[in-house]
Amino acid sequence: LAAIELRGVKKTFQAHGDAVAAVRGVDVAIGEGEFFSLLGPSGCGKTTTMRMIAGFDEPTEGEVFLHGQDVVGVPPNKRDVNMVFQSYALFPHMTVLENVAFGLRRKGVAKAEVARRVGEMLEIVDLKGRERRRPRELSGGQQQRVALARALVNRPRALLLDEPLGALDLKLRQAMQVELKRIQREVGITFVYVTHDQNEALTMSDRIAVMNDGRIEQLGTPREIYERPATAFVAGFIGTSNVLSGTVARAGGGRAVIEPGPGERIVVPCDAAPGEEIELTVRPEKIDVRSDPPAGDGCALRGTVTEVVYLGMFTNYNVATSTGAEVVVFVQNVSSADDVAT
Ligand code: ADP
Ligand code: MG
Repeated sequence: LAAIELRGVKKTFQAHGDAVAAVRGVDVAIGEGEFFSLLGPSGCGKTTTMRMIAGFDEPTEGEVFLHGQDVVGVPPNKRDVNMVFQSYALFPHMTVLENVAFGLRRKGVAKAEVARRVGEMLEIVDLKGRERRRPRELSGGQQQRVALARALVNRPRALLLDEPLGALDLKLRQAMQVELKRIQREVGITFVYVTHDQNEALTMSDRIAVMNDGRIEQLGTPREIYERPATAFVAGFIGTSNVLSGTVARAGGGRAVIEPGPGERIVVPCDAAPGEEIELTVRPEKIDVRSDPPAGDGCALRGTVTEVVYLGMFTNYNVATSTGAEVVVFVQNVSSADDVAT
C-alpha cells in the first residue's frame, strides 16, 4: 500500500481572469518510509503538488490518497502529514523547547509525555542543551532543525519538506542534507522533499520525480535519472550533458552508427534505421580527449580544443567538433607518484 498516491491530479488557478495550469496531470505512488523528491525548475508545480498532498489546496481534477484513504476534501489538520517550509516560521518569543512542545500542549497531551517526546525529538535533531534558547540565538541550520523537530514531534506518517534548506549557505546546506537523511532513517517515516537543486535530490533521495511544466517527465532512482535520462529536458536539467545529432549510416544488432566524417563514428545503443535522424545525450565524464585517434571501432570524433579549465578533481575541455557541435568533456585528474607526500 502506497503512503501517498496521486491519480490524474490537476490544478488550475484563476488569476486575474486567466486560467493558470499549475499541475497538468500527475500520477505517482510514494512508498512507506521512502525518501522521495520532487525536482524541477521554479514554477513547474512542485509546491502546488505538495499543498494538495497536505490539503492546503484541493485538486481541480483527480484523486489524492494517504495510506489508502481518499483525502480530497479532508482538511489539513485531519491528514496524517506535516509540512516544513523554507521560512521556518518559528515563534520568535518562544524557546526551542516551547516551539517544539507547542502542538502537543495545544492538543492537551499530558505534561510528562510532552517532556519525554520533546526530549527525544531534540536528541534526534541534535539540539540537546539548547532547550532554553530563542530562535534568534540560533544559527540558520539550528533553526531549521527546530522546525523539523516541531513537525516530527506529533509523529505524522509522512513529512512534506518544501525547499527546507533554500535559505542556508552551501556548506551548511550540504551538512544538513546528510543530517536530514540520517533523521529520516532514524524516525523511519515517509519524506517528500521538494527542491530545484539537482545535487540535493541526487544525494538524498531513494527516488526522484523530475517535474517540468506541471507534469512528471521522469520517475526513477538517482542513478536511473542520471545515467538514463528519458528526455532531453531531464538530461539538460540534471548534470551537464552534450547533445549530439546525426543521420544513421549503419544499423543492426540493437546499434546504430553515425559517421560524421572520415574516421569518425558514434555508436548508439538504439533501434534506429539507416537514414534516420537521431539525437543523443552524452555525459562529459564519458568522453576522453586524445591527440591520436583511438585504435579499434569505438566512438571517435575529431575536434579542436577551444578551452581548458582545471577544476581540481576534473579538467574541463571544451571541444569544437567537426560537426560544428560544441562538446564539454570532463577528464578525471589522476594524481601522479610525484604528488604523494613523503
Ligand atoms: P514551484 O513550486 O515548482 O516553483 P508552484 O507550484 O509554486 O511551482 O507554481 C506553479 C505555477 O502555478 C506557477 O506558474 C505559479 O505562478 C502558479 N501558481 C501557484 N500558486 C498560484 C495561485 N495561488 N494563484 C495563481 N497561480 C498560482
Ligand atoms: Mg515552490
